[in-house]
This record gives sequence, C-alpha cells and structure tokens, in this order.
Amino acid sequence: MDIPDLLWFLLPVAAAGGWLAARRGQVGKASQFWDYSQQFHEGMGELLSEQHADKKLFSTFTDGETDAAETHSALGSLYRRRGEFERAILIHKSITERTDLDHEVRASAQLELARDYEMGGLLDRSESTFRSLIKRGIRLEESYDALLQLHEREQDWLQAIQLALQCQLDTGRDVAPQVAHYYCELAETAVQSADLPNAASHLQLALQHWPQCARAHIQLASMALVAEQYRQAIEHFDKVEELDASLMPVIIESRFKALKGAGDVVALKAFVLRIQAQKNAYSVVRTTRKVLAELVDEQVADRFFKDQILKRPSLKGLRDWAHDQLALSKPGERDKVQVICSLLDQVMEDKPGFRCRSCGFQGNVMHWRCPGCASWDSVSTIIGVEGE
Ligand SMILES: [Zn+2]
Repeated sequence: MDIPDLLWFLLPVAAAGGWLAARRGQVGKASQFWDYSQQFHEGMGELLSEQHADKKLFSTFTDGETDAAETHSALGSLYRRRGEFERAILIHKSITERTDLDHEVRASAQLELARDYEMGGLLDRSESTFRSLIKRGIRLEESYDALLQLHEREQDWLQAIQLALQCQLDTGRDVAPQVAHYYCELAETAVQSADLPNAASHLQLALQHWPQCARAHIQLASMALVAEQYRQAIEHFDKVEELDASLMPVIIESRFKALKGAGDVVALKAFVLRIQAQKNAYSVVRTTRKVLAELVDEQVADRFFKDQILKRPSLKGLRDWAHDQLALSKPGERDKVQVICSLLDQVMEDKPGFRCRSCGFQGNVMHWRCPGCASWDSVSTIIGVEGE
C-alpha cells in the first residue's frame, strides 16, 4: 500500500474516530466533532509527512481522549502490518506513557507494543513487555498466547513449558496437550543429539502431562524399533491406533516393520486379517498389499487391493491400479493405458497429503504444529477421493 492508498484507508478511520468521540462524550456538540477531526487530520498529516520523530505528535490529546488514543493505536498496528516497526513502536509507546489515558487503552497499547517489538525482531523487549502485562494480570489470555508463541518460534521449549503451566494456574486453561508437545519437541532434539535416555524421559513426561499424546507413543515406538525392541514398539503403535486411527497412514510402514521384526507370524497375520476386514486409508492398503504378497502370494494381494479400492475409491488407488494394468496390457492397448497412467500421474502430482483443520494449510509432510496458524494437532491426513 503506498501513501495515497493509505490515505484512502485512513479517511474513514479518521471520520469514525471523530464520530465515536462525538457519540461517547459529546453528543449534540457538532462543533467539537469537527474540531476533533481537524486535530486528528493534523496529527495524521504530521505522521504521514514523517515529521514525527519526537512525541509532540501526541501532545494534542487532552485528558481522557480515549477515542483518539484508540485510533492512533489502530494506526500503529497498521504500520506494524506494513513492516514499519519503528513507527508502530513510537505510536504505541507514546500511548503507554500517557498516564492520563484510560487504563484499558494503555494496556491495549502495551500489548500492541510487545507485538511491534516481536515483529521488529526485538525479542528481549517483546518478552519483557508481555511478562510485565502478565505480572500485572492485564490481558492475561492474549499475553500468555503471544508469549507462548514467541517461545515456540524461538524453540525455547523449557521456557514454554514453564510458562504454559503458569498460564494454567492463572487462567484455568487446560494446557496439557501443549505441554506434552513441548516435551515431544525436547525429545526430538535429544534424539538428534543421540541422547536417547533424555529423549525417553521427555516422552514419559509428555505422557504424564497428557496420557492421550499419540505423538509421544509414535516417538517411543520409533526409538524402540531402532533399538530392535519390537514388542515395545508394537505396544506403542497399538496405543497410537487406539488414540487416533487417522494416524494409521503415518505409522503403517513402521508398524509392519515391528511386527516382522518380532518374528511373531500369528500376530502379523492377525493384524493383516483385521485390516482386510475394514475400510482403510490408501497408504494402509498399499503397504498391506506388499505384505500380503510376501506373506501369501501376489494373487491374494491383488484381490485385497481391488476390494479395498472399490470400498474406498481414491485417485491414488486408481493411479496405482492403472500402472498395474500397464504391465498386463496387450501390446496394441499399451499406448492407451500409458496415456491414462500419465494423466493420472499429472493429476496426482503435488497433491497434498495433509491439511490443517484450523486454517486450511496444505502440505505433503505431517506437522504436529501447523506452519500456517501455529495450532497444535490441527494437521491431519486428507481423507476422500483426492487423499487417503
Ligand atoms: Zn493451520
């Protein structure tokens, strides 16, 4: 947005500010409304012409001019969204320093100031401003949310855990799932540094805080699999399915690995039979088909595959079936089948496998925290013809 565009945006804001002022405290005093607007436009002109290096801009407020302060605060937030952090900070800081203004207006400006600092990369100042709001019990929910997100962005999981637990005490909010994810993040870092005992203890803590944490069971299963402790891995995978069956596409390959590793053919067959008896996500069908081919024979595997893709049609299933037909087709028909295969490959190219229920973010990788909206546990496999 360039300056002329901004002016078009600000004119109704200025008018609304004046109107609000007239409504709230000065009903019937039309001249004061216009005085106010005049003053507001002068201030705005000064701001836009960049002659605002000192705080004189705001000296035009008289005691209790809440509406003007609110409108300026909104303008500050607009600057922040435009990436003009210094201006945003100047405006919000000036409002917080005005002791004659309404307490709530100053608190809002302080919250906005903390966000300006954060977006401007002044993370220490942002954190201390949020903490000051929390300490004084002002705008608790918003301040906790913003500060937790700041710690998440910095991947400071220990601070995030401490703060989330403090938030639970102060607001009564259930933070158990969030805390469990923070411990899972710590566990991932520990695994990357080959510190497996530490990783395991973080995961136990995750489950202590939130026993329904499927992610912790997946991580424990993966660690058990690497350590060739197949029985333990199977137990954790069973738990994952019990807690959230939609995660089956994510765990199916590893789950078969654990079942094969345990060398328990009876358990492996029982698992396959259970899958055969139900409708499954396509990734589960594709993996089970391979296992059936090894365990019994190709014919049984193919029959299972056809049954399943008819029960729950999907483009992925159709594409793989078409590729099967390519190998079986007669020389005269092969070209036509090849065209169908190419078309289906193109249709499926770049089709996302996961979607966030909160913001609609799509991707091909499973995220426990949505990269779009920063929600935990909101990303899941896409179910339906174009997905699983
Ligand atoms: Zn999202």
